[in-house]
Amino acid sequence: MATEGQAGGHGDHVCESMENHHNHICQLITKVTAGEIIDMVDLPGFICENCARAANSAEYLCRPRSLAESGEQEG
Ligand SMILES: [Zn+2]
Repeated sequence: MATEGQAGGHGDHVCESMENHHNHICQLITKVTAGEIIDMVDLPGFICENCARAANSAEYLCRPRSLAESGEQEG
């Protein structure tokens, strides 16, 4: 029994769709320039709960969360 107290450990990077992970912003940005993904983040509608990156579509994020909170009511 040992208490492991390592500082600066890696956080758990949970991806909800590993099969598309190569298309996620967090992965793309390691291969391409920001200019290449501007069209994907130009009008963000989702934010990644992993890295807080925003993207137009949920398919570009590991853990997408809709930016449009439940406040959209007509009337
Ligand atoms: Zn991912």
